[in-house]
Amino acid sequence: MKSLAPNANFGKGKVLRAQYAWEDSALFVAVCLDGEEWTLRDTEIFDPRYDERDRERRIKERVRLGIRRVFERVYGLAESPWGILTGVRPMKMVHSMLDRGFPPEELKVLLREVYALSPKKADLLLEVAAEQRPYFHPDPNNPIGIYVGIPFCPTRCSYCSFAAYPLHTHGHLLPAFLEALHAEIAAVGSLIKERGLEVEAVYLGGGTPTTVQGADLDRLLGLLREHLCTATTREFTVEAGRPETLSRETLSILKANGTQRICINPQTMHEPTLQAIGRRHTVEEVRTAFAAARDIGIPLINMDIILGLPGEELPQVRQTLEEIADLGPDNLTVHSLALKRASRLKKDWEQERIAQEQGEAMVDLARDYALSWGMSPYYLYRQRHILGDLENIGYSKPGAASVYNIQMMEERQTILALGAGGITKLIAPDLTLARQVNPKCPAAYTAQIRGCLEERLAALRRHFSSRY
Ligand code: SF4
Repeated sequence: MKSLAPNANFGKGKVLRAQYAWEDSALFVAVCLDGEEWTLRDTEIFDPRYDERDRERRIKERVRLGIRRVFERVYGLAESPWGILTGVRPMKMVHSMLDRGFPPEELKVLLREVYALSPKKADLLLEVAAEQRPYFHPDPNNPIGIYVGIPFCPTRCSYCSFAAYPLHTHGHLLPAFLEALHAEIAAVGSLIKERGLEVEAVYLGGGTPTTVQGADLDRLLGLLREHLCTATTREFTVEAGRPETLSRETLSILKANGTQRICINPQTMHEPTLQAIGRRHTVEEVRTAFAAARDIGIPLINMDIILGLPGEELPQVRQTLEEIADLGPDNLTVHSLALKRASRLKKDWEQERIAQEQGEAMVDLARDYALSWGMSPYYLYRQRHILGDLENIGYSKPGAASVYNIQMMEERQTILALGAGGITKLIAPDLTLARQVNPKCPAAYTAQIRGCLEERLAALRRHFSSRY
């Protein structure tokens, strides 16, 4: 119930009753709240393409749908474009159904009827799935992907939830952090060689990796290429992120080390908002960094924007998109701001409704621009308390999609994460997942990583040995 209506205040003496029963080759579900009753008879659940686990899950989904429907009637809860798909990775469910042999047209009907998605969101999921599926490999453990986390940033943005420590307060930790990271890169590299693994994509993220500059950056990128890239590595991304870190010298080092993709993330091209959210760079710096990156010959550039930033409505979003149109990136990633949880039920739901209308208009506007640039959506995910219950979408020009983003999001490929805040995802052949988490704090990472490297490598060896 909390996931369907996160801001709801329960415990007011009303009784919610949910029941299910198997009757005449059908699942019968009834949900009742405050005199409002919702019932459903589901026969599709007996489709032979489902197994027992699917049927158990379907019972929960049907009850969720019933609860959602009675909440809509009793509390005026707004219909959500995402229906009962409240998880952060709606694509995983779609891929699982496609794996089972449900053709897209049939799946579209199920997305509408079982998951209560709006037609627009059902279409979006199928569109993204079609883009992604050619990137999937039969073996989730060869090739693999690599993530390396650098937890430093020039300043901390007010909305940030990542491992990001401002250089002016934590910069003294950088040298020791880099030494520890070099040791981890060499150790994981030796394991990759020992197991004969191929690495499909390397992603240097954070934080802002380009807070590492000059000879330190050159050495770091050189070690990544030497130890972690293999003959078939097709993508090397550096999430440059903050434009104020992108001098011509830094961009030249990225280029000289084979960086194929960088992210220059303005979030907004509206100067007052940039200052309000603590970015401390200017719109002009975004333009300058972008032009320099093109001039130096970085092949692909992604730009991130955030919809729903404080004080921004449609005109500011349009201005941002117009400015980005002039620059012409190869990818556009459109985030919807995650809203903070508020306390009062009715007020919150009204706010949600307003946010939903405005948010949808912004999302549609961004989509219109991206499509007009010849891009298509290629990955998406959701967050809790996201603006208007919307989503984050990555758009790409043809042939420019980030394979790392797809594999990381869909969790069909083992990703080894190094550096601070990295989460290694070990994928079993049945696509179940085990995680290993590196400390977020650079001081903790530096103190711990050498001591636990052997144990970590042993766990990785076990994983890669047991995969057949
Ligand atoms: S640049 Fe990104 S990682 Fe760094 S503080 Fe801002 S949002 Fe966080």
